[in-house]
Amino acid sequence: MKITDGIINEAEFCPSPNFDNRSENSNIDLFVIHAISLPEGNYNTQLIKDLFLNDLDPGNDKFLQSIEHLKVSSHFLISRSGSLIQFVPIDKRAWHAGKSNYQGRENCNDFSIGIELEGCDTEEFTSAQYESLSNLISHISADLKINKKNIVGHNEIAPGRKTDPGPYFDWNLLKSML
Ligand SMILES: [Zn+2]
Repeated sequence: MKITDGIINEAEFCPSPNFDNRSENSNIDLFVIHAISLPEGNYNTQLIKDLFLNDLDPGNDKFLQSIEHLKVSSHFLISRSGSLIQFVPIDKRAWHAGKSNYQGRENCNDFSIGIELEGCDTEEFTSAQYESLSNLISHISADLKINKKNIVGHNEIAPGRKTDPGPYFDWNLLKSML
């Protein structure tokens, strides 16, 4: 795995307009794990890409209609088959965490890397996803000298507001692979 200008060479790069510069003096030192499925509970990777590219066609789906206006992104998305898609260069600030707090520090988007796994709160993630996720974290943490232990779920930095990656995410498995 190689990183050029903040982009993983092996990833499919789909540049999202939803990013900006990180605050000055913000050292990247945290990975935030998310889960997303669109519509919820269904696996349609293209719809997630469309959302992050501000190109979502909600059709008649009430849930998709409710999120169509959002301006969001993440650095990475890992599909059910384990394929890696990147939306925002690592050095830029992706808009994934929202109102958040990590050990007293607000606005985690400033200093974190957001990784979405295609999944939901009611189903296990795939082996291919753990493979791809651990590989990604290993390489980025080595490259940017981030402590590999600095990984949190979105639920941990936005408690009461977010539940992802949810109860089926296997933290012990991930940590055993790093
Ligand atoms: Zn999330």
